[in-house]
Amino acid sequence: MGRVDGEQAESFGLTPLALRMCRSTNGVSRKHGEVSRALWQKMWPDRQTNEVPITSVTNGVHPATWVAPLLRRVYEQQVGEDWIERARDAGAWSYGVEKISNRELWEAHSLLKQRLVAFVRDHSFDARLARGENEEHIEAARTMFDPEILTIGFARRVAGYKRWDLLLIDRDRLAKLINDRSRPVQFVFAGKAHPQDEGAKAVLQELIDWQRDTSVRQRVAFIEDYDQEIARQLVQGVDVWMNVPRRPQEASGTSGQKIAINGGLNFSVLDGWWLEGYDGDNGFAIGDLSEVSDVEMDQQDSESMYRVLAEEVVPRFYDRDEQRMPRRWIAMMKRSIGTLVPRFSSDRMVAEYVERIY
Ligand SMILES: *Cc1c(COP(=O)(O)O)cnc(C)c1O
Repeated sequence: MGRVDGEQAESFGLTPLALRMCRSTNGVSRKHGEVSRALWQKMWPDRQTNEVPITSVTNGVHPATWVAPLLRRVYEQQVGEDWIERARDAGAWSYGVEKISNRELWEAHSLLKQRLVAFVRDHSFDARLARGENEEHIEAARTMFDPEILTIGFARRVAGYKRWDLLLIDRDRLAKLINDRSRPVQFVFAGKAHPQDEGAKAVLQELIDWQRDTSVRQRVAFIEDYDQEIARQLVQGVDVWMNVPRRPQEASGTSGQKIAINGGLNFSVLDGWWLEGYDGDNGFAIGDLSEVSDVEMDQQDSESMYRVLAEEVVPRFYDRDEQRMPRRWIAMMKRSIGTLVPRFSSDRMVAEYVERIY
């Protein structure tokens, strides 16, 4: 039961066992379903790949858990007390979101961002103190980060396919973006490596060494002990969330969905849920869908990442009207909230499991 075929030499596999024993099998995004059907077609040798009985239900997140209380109040007041129920109906929800005034949405987001800056400073100060770093470096934490600067979050497990090293491929180019005089960028990172994963620990070490460099340290933060509480702080306060997995290995990913409910914009590789969610106007795409070797994909995606950041993300964020409001950015925030929350909420997911699976 635990073998793909009867071959005596084949050792036990949990997946063949599960595929045989379960009444229903599904991936957690459309792409994951497609990849799984191709991967396990060998279990059904007389069927075509598209006839393999593995379907998919795309993951979603629980809006009430992940939304910032400040923004929840805005939704309650502008969309209605029943905003969560309304979010099940894409039409009613996006209509309600469009009614929120630009100013109200931007002010709520700006307050949450100020709170994030305070969190980054406190956390960094305490961590430096606890590590016994030199006084000058500890003190510098009090003034790091700036609520006016475009803030990008990158937090996830440190697993190989998540490509933590992609950003550091061209450090000079990155430092130029970070230290641009009129349109700077700041980054907040968080993540843990598996204790036995030496490769992952080396990648983190490199990032942490770089982040201590005086040329970037006021604008780059690494938050230790990534967990749900830290995730909550980050997803509620950043402007942009970045995810750069190696396609097609991101089964779904859910952290970008937590961003959408809070008005942040996704800036990610088209894989997992973002391949379904991205519509050209509700966030930013890194790379394309070409099928190339891993080495080529890393090169193409890192090039695309720097380029889209410099040519699309940064200019849109800093494009302000007479009232210093980033009107085109806010339009994208509304489009992101309006289109993504209904489709990537746990309500939609549970309904699909009930109706199609259970
Ligand atoms: C949401 C969440 C994840 C999943 O994040 P992905 O980057 O989408 O895989 C992992 N860890 C924590 C603590 C989270 O909150």
